[in-house]
Amino acid sequence: MNDRQAISAILGARVGVLGAGQLGRMLGLAGRSLGLELQFLDPTADSPAAAVGELLVADYGDEHALARLAAADVVTFEFENVPVAAVKALEARVRVFPGSSALEVAQDRLHEKTCFRGLGIGTPPFEAVSSWSELAAALSRIGLPAVLKTRRFGYDGKGQAVLRSEADARAAFERLGSAPLILEGFVKFQRELSIVAVRSASGEIARYPLVQNHHSDGILRKTMAPAPDVSAASQQAANQYIDKLLAELDYVGVLALELFEVDGQLLANEIAPRVHNTGHWTIEGAVTSQFENHLRAILGLPLGITDAISPCAMLNLIGAAPDARAVLAVPDAHLHWYGKAPRPGRKVGHITVRAPDTATLEHRVAELERLIASSDK
Ligand code: AMP
Repeated sequence: MNDRQAISAILGARVGVLGAGQLGRMLGLAGRSLGLELQFLDPTADSPAAAVGELLVADYGDEHALARLAAADVVTFEFENVPVAAVKALEARVRVFPGSSALEVAQDRLHEKTCFRGLGIGTPPFEAVSSWSELAAALSRIGLPAVLKTRRFGYDGKGQAVLRSEADARAAFERLGSAPLILEGFVKFQRELSIVAVRSASGEIARYPLVQNHHSDGILRKTMAPAPDVSAASQQAANQYIDKLLAELDYVGVLALELFEVDGQLLANEIAPRVHNTGHWTIEGAVTSQFENHLRAILGLPLGITDAISPCAMLNLIGAAPDARAVLAVPDAHLHWYGKAPRPGRKVGHITVRAPDTATLEHRVAELERLIASSDK
């Protein structure tokens, strides 16, 4: 294939996407500059991705909508709680990346942690729990404090409880116990890190550097990229973990792995089989964004360079927006607005800020955090 033929093979290629939230919107923005057409399926009419492609408003299991999506050149998803049955139905008709088997593992915390263990990837101690007596037995082995989580459909800290006493355990079981659960040891981590990597259909892998994440109330607030003071051993361990997962899941596309750093060791918390909030910094902070690289991977194109351009930070805007003029007055700050109505606890946008050195970055982050805090009041 000569260069001209290669370009025309991309131009106008159609990518179907299950889900049309902000991740879909950012995939769509990257796709547009590659000359792609994106078509989204989401049950919500005013979804953020409607601004960047055609939106089919229907349930994920809707036969007619799935048939329309199956006419795309390739299908992907930006939301990990789409029904596996819908992805399998699509797989019978069109290439779907990543596939339903990766989705199945990521949707169930027990399968996920069992997969980590099988690959020799460190995890907190964990046990499956489906009754009060199983919880009591698991607690006697794992000990307090511990974290009780629903196996499925948890996100942003929802569907989980930290247990510090037997009374906490009883209250949490009362609240969560109607669904299958997992009990995990509470990790007294020094910090939370994540690694985002991408694998193409030909098996080529590119990894972004480890980043450091700050959560509160279970929601990501800030990512520092690259993570400061990462030892070569930690970066190497993270690379090995994600490489093993990508190979095991025969994965195509972007995969994120969330990690706890404890005394220089990395323990795996969870994977996300999609572009990830801890990779948003790559839009301005890396040579090629996670969104562009995901599209390159699923279309069988060469992957882009994943190096960081400079120290940078990503700050989520949750529930409220600071004054845009003030944000943009901070040097090298970039505002991303998702087009969602602000609601408490809802991610409505993010800011990426870069700086030539970490001291200047800290100064800019502090200024932006002050603007965000004043908008929360
Ligand atoms: P998750 O939904 O599993 O990503 O959990 C949300 C957040 O809860 C994580 O980012 C951690 O801050 C915290 N967390 C989850 N699991 C544990 C654990 N086993 N030990 C300590 N903190 C945890």
